[in-house]
Amino acid sequence: MEVRLLRVTPKGEELLEYATTVSSHRLATRTLVENDYSSVLEHIVFTFDIRGLSVAASRELLEHRIASHTARSTRYNEEADFEYYKPRLDEPARRIYEEAMERARTAYKKLREMGVPREYARYVLPMATHSHYILTMNARSLINFLSLRLCVRASPEMRELAMRMLEICRKEYPQIFNGVFCRGVTQGTCPENEFRPKECPFRDKIPTRKEIRMRGIVEEH
Ligand SMILES: Cc1cc2nc3c(=O)[nH]c(=O)nc-3n(C[C@H](O)[C@H](O)[C@H](O)COP(=O)(O)OP(=O)(O)OC[C@H]3O[C@@H](n4cnc5c(N)ncnc54)[C@H](O)[C@@H]3O)c2cc1C
Repeated sequence: MEVRLLRVTPKGEELLEYATTVSSHRLATRTLVENDYSSVLEHIVFTFDIRGLSVAASRELLEHRIASHTARSTRYNEEADFEYYKPRLDEPARRIYEEAMERARTAYKKLREMGVPREYARYVLPMATHSHYILTMNARSLINFLSLRLCVRASPEMRELAMRMLEICRKEYPQIFNGVFCRGVTQGTCPENEFRPKECPFRDKIPTRKEIRMRGIVEEH
């Protein structure tokens, strides 16, 4: 997978701080994030160029509605030489997986040779087929996306995508993104509650929402 930054709002922190003066009084970018005055963050916009993302993961990406999405069309592009996602599999699973990909490729090519249009032949393509994607998201929506997809419960491919996007975001706007990770880290409590898995690296550090409620902190107010 390759993730490249195509565009980002320049001098975004100046813009954010100016926007806060229009609303009330000047606030530092970090305060906007820490205090969740997040609507102002929508003024900073990122556009990513994502290559080598599977069709399966691109469907998950499309679930993020507060974004602009453009994907490679399998109706207008020839897919006979498709590349595909390769999960880490041991033998003999790896061999069975790759054979399935090659069977799909052969079927696609045969259908095309018979004159079947791309828009029908594409239905034999696997979910693992690589796509090419342009994604535009504002910083507020990015925080939501990253927080959801950096959770250990997210799929490995989406976590990889989110990690690469986070690295780019932190480089461009560290004041906004340095405190961002899964929802537990970003929000200070984990909403996964009893579904938080054993492998979560923050299990002993960040309480779940239910744990906070059980301490009576929320009910008191
Ligand atoms: C670990 C994991 C497992 C998942 N499993 C499934 C699954 O099994 N099946 C499945 O279908 N999806 C699944 N999803 C996808 C998930 O349910 C969300 O659709 C996806 O993460 C997009 O999140 P979002 O709605 O917050 O983002 P966006 O669509 O970008 O929305 C951002 C925010 O805007 C607000 N918003 C957007 N649209 C509306 C609206 N119509 N009404 C009110 N508020 C709105 C909400 O506050 C929302 O959080 C999973 C996601 C994760 C991370």
